[in-house]
Amino acid sequence: MSVSSVVSAITRRLEGKVALITGGASGIGECTAKTFVNHGAKVVIADVQDELAHSVVESIGSENCTFVHCDVRDEDQIKNAVEKAVATYGKLDIMFNNAGIADENKARIIDNTKDDFERVLGINVTGVFLGIKHASQPMIRARTGSIISTASVSSYIGGAASHAYACSKHAVNGLTKNAAVELGQFGIRVNCLSPYALVTPLATKFVGLDDEGFENMMSSLANLKGVTLKAQDVANAALYLASDEARYISGHNLLIDGGFSIVNPSFS
Ligand code: NAD
Repeated sequence: MSVSSVVSAITRRLEGKVALITGGASGIGECTAKTFVNHGAKVVIADVQDELAHSVVESIGSENCTFVHCDVRDEDQIKNAVEKAVATYGKLDIMFNNAGIADENKARIIDNTKDDFERVLGINVTGVFLGIKHASQPMIRARTGSIISTASVSSYIGGAASHAYACSKHAVNGLTKNAAVELGQFGIRVNCLSPYALVTPLATKFVGLDDEGFENMMSSLANLKGVTLKAQDVANAALYLASDEARYISGHNLLIDGGFSIVNPSFS
Protein backbone atom coordinates (compact mmCIF):
# COMPACT_ATOMS: atom_id res chain seq x y z
CA MET A 1 0.00 0.00 0.00
CA SER A 2 1.39 3.42 -0.95
CA VAL A 3 1.77 6.20 1.64
CA SER A 4 -0.91 8.26 -0.13
CA SER A 5 -3.42 5.38 -0.02
CA VAL A 6 -2.73 4.86 3.72
CA VAL A 7 -3.25 8.59 4.37
CA SER A 8 -6.41 8.52 2.26
CA ALA A 9 -7.78 5.51 4.22
CA ILE A 10 -7.40 7.53 7.43
CA THR A 11 -8.56 10.94 6.26
CA ARG A 12 -11.15 10.00 3.59
CA ARG A 13 -12.98 7.18 5.33
CA LEU A 14 -16.15 7.50 3.23
CA GLU A 15 -14.54 8.09 -0.15
CA GLY A 16 -17.03 7.34 -2.94
CA LYS A 17 -19.97 6.73 -0.60
CA VAL A 18 -23.39 8.38 -0.73
CA ALA A 19 -25.32 9.28 2.44
CA LEU A 20 -28.82 10.51 3.20
CA ILE A 21 -29.15 12.37 6.52
CA THR A 22 -32.54 13.24 7.98
CA GLY A 23 -32.53 16.23 10.30
CA GLY A 24 -29.36 17.38 8.55
CA ALA A 25 -30.18 21.10 8.80
CA SER A 26 -29.18 21.47 12.45
CA GLY A 27 -27.28 20.06 15.42
CA ILE A 28 -26.00 16.49 15.16
CA GLY A 29 -27.25 16.05 11.58
CA GLU A 30 -25.56 19.20 10.31
CA CYS A 31 -22.26 18.30 11.98
CA THR A 32 -22.47 14.76 10.58
CA ALA A 33 -23.18 16.05 7.05
CA LYS A 34 -20.02 18.18 7.24
CA THR A 35 -17.98 15.31 8.68
CA PHE A 36 -19.15 12.83 6.03
CA VAL A 37 -18.34 15.24 3.18
CA ASN A 38 -14.91 15.96 4.73
CA HIS A 39 -14.34 12.21 4.55
CA GLY A 40 -15.20 11.98 0.86
CA ALA A 41 -18.94 11.23 0.86
CA LYS A 42 -21.69 12.88 -1.15
CA VAL A 43 -24.53 13.86 1.17
CA VAL A 44 -28.23 14.53 0.74
CA ILE A 45 -29.78 16.47 3.62
CA ALA A 46 -33.47 15.76 4.26
CA ASP A 47 -35.24 18.16 6.59
CA VAL A 48 -38.33 20.31 7.10
CA GLN A 49 -36.34 23.52 7.69
CA ASP A 50 -35.69 24.50 4.07
CA GLU A 51 -33.92 27.82 4.63
CA LEU A 52 -31.58 26.43 7.27
CA ALA A 53 -30.85 23.36 5.15
CA HIS A 54 -29.98 25.51 2.13
CA SER A 55 -27.49 27.48 4.23
CA VAL A 56 -25.88 24.20 5.39
CA VAL A 57 -25.59 23.03 1.76
CA GLU A 58 -24.02 26.38 0.88
CA SER A 59 -21.48 26.12 3.69
CA ILE A 60 -20.56 22.54 2.71
CA GLY A 61 -20.51 23.18 -1.06
CA SER A 62 -23.22 22.19 -3.53
CA GLU A 63 -20.83 19.94 -5.50
CA ASN A 64 -20.86 17.45 -2.59
CA CYS A 65 -24.14 18.12 -0.86
CA THR A 66 -27.76 18.71 -1.76
CA PHE A 67 -31.07 19.20 0.01
CA VAL A 68 -34.48 17.61 -0.30
CA HIS A 69 -37.49 18.80 1.66
CA CYS A 70 -38.71 15.83 3.67
CA ASP A 71 -41.01 15.40 6.61
CA VAL A 72 -39.98 11.99 7.94
CA ARG A 73 -43.56 11.20 8.99
CA ASP A 74 -44.65 11.23 5.35
CA GLU A 75 -43.93 7.96 3.50
CA ASP A 76 -44.01 9.58 0.05
CA GLN A 77 -41.51 12.22 1.14
CA ILE A 78 -39.09 9.66 2.61
CA LYS A 79 -39.37 7.55 -0.54
CA ASN A 80 -38.72 10.67 -2.62
CA ALA A 81 -35.65 11.55 -0.53
CA VAL A 82 -34.18 8.08 -1.09
CA GLU A 83 -34.93 8.31 -4.81
CA LYS A 84 -33.33 11.76 -4.96
CA ALA A 85 -30.11 10.42 -3.39
CA VAL A 86 -29.97 7.57 -5.91
CA ALA A 87 -30.89 9.81 -8.86
CA THR A 88 -28.37 12.52 -7.90
CA TYR A 89 -25.39 10.41 -6.88
CA GLY A 90 -26.14 6.98 -8.38
CA LYS A 91 -26.65 4.90 -5.21
CA LEU A 92 -27.24 4.98 -1.46
CA ASP A 93 -24.61 3.54 0.88
CA ILE A 94 -25.50 5.21 4.19
CA MET A 95 -28.82 6.18 5.74
CA PHE A 96 -28.68 8.31 8.89
CA ASN A 97 -32.15 8.44 10.48
CA ASN A 98 -31.36 11.32 12.76
CA ALA A 99 -34.38 13.68 12.66
CA GLY A 100 -36.05 13.86 16.02
CA ILE A 101 -37.88 16.08 18.48
CA ALA A 102 -38.16 16.27 22.25
CA ASP A 103 -40.97 17.50 24.42
CA GLU A 104 -41.11 18.90 27.91
CA ASN A 105 -40.05 16.38 30.52
CA LYS A 106 -43.14 16.21 32.72
CA ALA A 107 -42.20 13.71 35.37
CA ARG A 108 -45.76 12.54 36.06
CA ILE A 109 -47.49 10.56 33.33
CA ILE A 110 -50.80 12.15 34.30
CA ASP A 111 -49.46 15.51 33.07
CA ASN A 112 -48.61 14.20 29.59
CA THR A 113 -51.11 14.70 26.78
CA LYS A 114 -51.95 12.06 24.19
CA ASP A 115 -51.28 14.61 21.44
CA ASP A 116 -47.74 15.26 22.71
CA PHE A 117 -47.12 11.53 23.01
CA GLU A 118 -48.25 10.83 19.45
CA ARG A 119 -46.38 13.85 18.03
CA VAL A 120 -43.06 12.62 19.47
CA LEU A 121 -43.62 9.03 18.36
CA GLY A 122 -44.70 10.19 14.88
CA ILE A 123 -41.31 11.76 14.17
CA ASN A 124 -38.95 9.75 16.38
CA VAL A 125 -40.38 6.29 15.65
CA THR A 126 -42.51 6.34 12.48
CA GLY A 127 -39.82 8.52 10.85
CA VAL A 128 -37.11 5.97 11.65
CA PHE A 129 -39.32 3.05 10.57
CA LEU A 130 -39.99 4.71 7.19
CA GLY A 131 -36.33 5.64 6.80
CA ILE A 132 -35.18 2.05 7.34
CA LYS A 133 -37.97 0.70 5.11
CA HIS A 134 -37.19 2.86 2.08
CA ALA A 135 -33.41 3.25 2.39
CA SER A 136 -33.05 -0.52 2.59
CA GLN A 137 -34.55 -1.02 -0.89
CA PRO A 138 -31.61 0.26 -3.00
CA MET A 139 -29.25 -1.27 -0.42
CA ILE A 140 -30.87 -4.69 -0.87
CA ARG A 141 -30.35 -4.39 -4.63
CA ALA A 142 -26.71 -3.40 -4.03
CA ARG A 143 -26.23 -6.12 -1.37
CA THR A 144 -24.53 -3.61 0.95
CA GLY A 145 -25.30 -0.58 3.13
CA SER A 146 -25.11 0.98 6.56
CA ILE A 147 -28.23 2.27 8.32
CA ILE A 148 -27.70 4.35 11.45
CA SER A 149 -30.38 5.95 13.60
CA THR A 150 -30.10 8.40 16.47
CA ALA A 151 -31.58 7.00 19.67
CA SER A 152 -30.49 8.50 23.02
CA VAL A 153 -29.18 7.59 26.44
CA SER A 154 -32.94 7.52 27.14
CA SER A 155 -33.06 4.25 25.18
CA TYR A 156 -31.08 2.70 28.06
CA ILE A 157 -32.45 4.34 31.19
CA GLY A 158 -35.66 5.65 32.68
CA GLY A 159 -36.33 9.09 34.09
CA ALA A 160 -33.97 11.14 31.91
CA ALA A 161 -36.63 12.51 29.54
CA SER A 162 -40.38 12.59 28.93
CA HIS A 163 -42.34 9.34 28.75
CA ALA A 164 -42.88 9.88 25.04
CA TYR A 165 -39.20 10.58 24.34
CA ALA A 166 -37.95 7.62 26.40
CA CYS A 167 -40.49 5.35 24.72
CA SER A 168 -39.55 6.63 21.25
CA LYS A 169 -35.84 6.05 21.77
CA HIS A 170 -36.37 2.55 23.19
CA ALA A 171 -38.38 1.93 20.01
CA VAL A 172 -35.47 3.09 17.84
CA ASN A 173 -33.34 0.47 19.58
CA GLY A 174 -36.01 -2.17 18.88
CA LEU A 175 -36.33 -1.20 15.22
CA THR A 176 -32.54 -1.30 14.90
CA LYS A 177 -32.25 -4.82 16.25
CA ASN A 178 -35.18 -6.15 14.24
CA ALA A 179 -33.95 -4.60 10.99
CA ALA A 180 -30.40 -5.82 11.64
CA VAL A 181 -31.76 -9.38 11.80
CA GLU A 182 -33.81 -9.07 8.61
CA LEU A 183 -31.30 -7.11 6.52
CA GLY A 184 -28.10 -8.94 7.49
CA GLN A 185 -28.72 -11.49 4.73
CA PHE A 186 -28.25 -8.65 2.21
CA GLY A 187 -25.00 -7.39 3.73
CA ILE A 188 -26.75 -4.39 5.29
CA ARG A 189 -25.67 -3.29 8.76
CA VAL A 190 -28.15 -1.53 11.05
CA ASN A 191 -27.06 0.29 14.20
CA CYS A 192 -28.09 3.19 16.41
CA LEU A 193 -26.37 5.84 18.52
CA SER A 194 -27.27 6.80 22.07
CA PRO A 195 -25.83 10.17 23.05
CA TYR A 196 -26.00 11.86 26.44
CA ALA A 197 -27.32 15.46 26.33
CA LEU A 198 -25.56 18.10 24.26
CA VAL A 199 -26.33 21.66 23.27
CA THR A 200 -28.56 21.77 20.17
CA PRO A 201 -31.86 23.59 19.54
CA LEU A 202 -33.71 20.35 20.41
CA ALA A 203 -32.09 20.04 23.82
CA THR A 204 -32.30 23.66 24.97
CA LYS A 205 -35.83 24.38 23.73
CA PHE A 206 -37.68 22.71 26.60
CA VAL A 207 -35.24 23.31 29.44
CA GLY A 208 -35.52 27.09 29.55
CA LEU A 209 -31.75 27.64 29.77
CA ASP A 210 -29.36 29.26 27.32
CA ASP A 211 -26.62 27.16 25.72
CA GLU A 212 -24.08 27.90 28.45
CA GLY A 213 -26.57 27.25 31.26
CA PHE A 214 -27.65 23.96 29.68
CA GLU A 215 -24.07 22.84 29.13
CA ASN A 216 -23.16 23.71 32.73
CA MET A 217 -26.15 21.78 34.05
CA MET A 218 -25.38 18.70 31.95
CA SER A 219 -21.68 18.86 32.87
CA SER A 220 -22.54 18.91 36.57
CA LEU A 221 -24.66 15.76 36.12
CA ALA A 222 -22.22 13.97 33.80
CA ASN A 223 -20.10 11.01 34.86
CA LEU A 224 -17.10 12.01 32.77
CA LYS A 225 -15.87 15.21 34.35
CA GLY A 226 -14.13 17.96 32.44
CA VAL A 227 -15.33 16.70 29.05
CA THR A 228 -18.43 18.16 27.43
CA LEU A 229 -20.31 16.14 24.81
CA LYS A 230 -20.34 17.91 21.43
CA ALA A 231 -22.14 17.19 18.15
CA GLN A 232 -18.75 16.27 16.68
CA ASP A 233 -18.47 13.35 19.15
CA VAL A 234 -21.76 11.95 17.83
CA ALA A 235 -20.75 12.64 14.22
CA ASN A 236 -17.49 10.74 14.81
CA ALA A 237 -19.45 7.72 16.06
CA ALA A 238 -21.73 7.93 13.00
CA LEU A 239 -18.62 8.15 10.80
CA TYR A 240 -17.26 4.95 12.32
CA LEU A 241 -20.53 3.04 11.89
CA ALA A 242 -20.89 4.34 8.32
CA SER A 243 -17.35 3.37 7.35
CA ASP A 244 -15.95 -0.01 6.34
CA GLU A 245 -14.03 -0.08 9.64
CA ALA A 246 -17.34 -1.13 11.21
CA ARG A 247 -17.94 -3.84 8.60
CA TYR A 248 -18.82 -6.47 11.21
CA ILE A 249 -20.84 -4.24 13.55
CA SER A 250 -24.61 -4.67 13.27
CA GLY A 251 -27.57 -4.58 15.65
CA HIS A 252 -25.57 -2.42 18.05
CA ASN A 253 -26.80 0.52 20.17
CA LEU A 254 -23.67 2.59 20.76
CA LEU A 255 -23.71 4.65 23.96
CA ILE A 256 -21.98 8.01 23.77
CA ASP A 257 -22.65 8.97 27.36
CA GLY A 258 -19.29 8.97 29.14
CA GLY A 259 -20.59 6.28 31.52
CA PHE A 260 -23.66 8.25 32.64
CA SER A 261 -26.05 5.29 32.27
CA ILE A 262 -23.84 3.04 34.39
CA VAL A 263 -23.88 5.53 37.25
CA ASN A 264 -27.58 6.31 36.71
CA PRO A 265 -29.43 3.12 35.70
CA SER A 266 -32.53 5.15 36.39
CA PHE A 267 -32.50 8.87 36.75
CA SER A 268 -34.83 11.23 38.53
P1 NAD B 1 -31.78 19.65 16.36
O1 NAD B 1 -33.07 20.25 16.74
O2 NAD B 1 -30.58 20.52 16.26
O3 NAD B 1 -31.92 18.83 14.99
C1 NAD B 1 -33.04 18.07 14.68
C2 NAD B 1 -33.35 18.25 13.21
O4 NAD B 1 -34.47 17.40 12.89
C3 NAD B 1 -33.76 19.69 12.85
O5 NAD B 1 -33.02 20.13 11.73
C4 NAD B 1 -35.23 19.57 12.52
O6 NAD B 1 -35.69 20.48 11.54
C5 NAD B 1 -35.31 18.12 12.03
N1 NAD B 1 -36.66 17.60 12.09
C6 NAD B 1 -37.56 17.72 13.10
N2 NAD B 1 -38.73 17.17 12.76
C7 NAD B 1 -38.57 16.69 11.49
C8 NAD B 1 -39.41 16.01 10.58
N3 NAD B 1 -40.69 15.73 10.89
N4 NAD B 1 -38.93 15.64 9.38
C9 NAD B 1 -37.63 15.95 9.04
N5 NAD B 1 -36.79 16.60 9.85
C10 NAD B 1 -37.26 16.97 11.06
O7 NAD B 1 -31.53 18.51 17.45
P2 NAD B 1 -30.39 17.41 17.63
O8 NAD B 1 -30.09 17.40 19.08
O9 NAD B 1 -29.29 17.54 16.65
O10 NAD B 1 -31.24 16.09 17.34
C11 NAD B 1 -30.85 15.09 16.44
C12 NAD B 1 -31.19 13.74 17.04
O11 NAD B 1 -30.40 13.52 18.20
C13 NAD B 1 -32.64 13.59 17.49
O12 NAD B 1 -33.13 12.32 17.07
C14 NAD B 1 -32.55 13.64 19.01
O13 NAD B 1 -33.59 12.97 19.64
C15 NAD B 1 -31.20 13.00 19.23
N6 NAD B 1 -30.55 13.27 20.50
C16 NAD B 1 -30.27 14.54 20.88
C17 NAD B 1 -29.66 14.76 22.11
C18 NAD B 1 -29.35 16.16 22.59
O14 NAD B 1 -29.13 16.34 23.81
N7 NAD B 1 -29.30 17.15 21.73
C19 NAD B 1 -29.31 13.68 22.95
C20 NAD B 1 -29.60 12.40 22.51
C21 NAD B 1 -30.22 12.21 21.29
